[in-house]
Amino acid sequence: MTAPTPLIAGNWKMNGLTAALDEARKIAAGAGAAKGRVAICPPATLLQRLGQAVAGSAVLTGGQDCHPEPAGAFTGDVAAEMLADAGAALVILGHSERRAGHAETDALVAKKVLAALRAGLEPIVCVGETQAQREAGHALEVVTGQVRGSLPAELSGKAFCVAYEPIWAIGTGLTPTTSQIEEMHRAIRATLRATFGAASDPAPILYGGSVKPSNAAEILHAAEVGGALVGGASLKADDFLEIAAAL
Ligand code: PEP
Repeated sequence: MTAPTPLIAGNWKMNGLTAALDEARKIAAGAGAAKGRVAICPPATLLQRLGQAVAGSAVLTGGQDCHPEPAGAFTGDVAAEMLADAGAALVILGHSERRAGHAETDALVAKKVLAALRAGLEPIVCVGETQAQREAGHALEVVTGQVRGSLPAELSGKAFCVAYEPIWAIGTGLTPTTSQIEEMHRAIRATLRATFGAASDPAPILYGGSVKPSNAAEILHAAEVGGALVGGASLKADDFLEIAAAL
């Protein structure tokens, strides 16, 4: 099996004004020491300037969402081509905050994945169960169903990541046990294998949900964990670099 290329990606969500570029510069100064790839996904307003601020470093940039269409009358939306034009290499798709707050379905996420591929972006496709779904014993079936529904066949042979983000762990300080993470990541890997065969082996499966310096090493060394999608802790350069150093 081809080993996945690990990635530590920071999701800044709707945070960051011009002053935040100083944190990005600090991340850029330290990112070269990480054993995998390091990315920052800032709000779209900062994407181009952040790319310029980290130019010449190991830091990649990414968007947080894109519209399925390349252009048109879609007020407030951003096309994958626009993200690429602003220097992005990656794009987060299907984040639970978009699935919940913008009624995004697996089918819509799959269309956005196609848009990302069209624009030459590497999609980071997010999946994850609610607390109620886990308590009802449905976590595995919910998440593997999201993987099947959100990843179109066209991803075969392309660079992509899956991010397992239990919704109850996002921004809450709660994290699953290592064995819960490993069980889910193994199930996602098996689903990718069943769908794409060995072509999906290089795709890292990231964990996301309250990753911080104190728990990063244990999470990142768990079986089938190929990196992390980091929210809150990615806003502070020192914390984010400490997480990246734990790879
Ligand atoms: C996220 O929203 O992608 C995330 C993982 O957030 P946090 O690290 O803050 O839980």
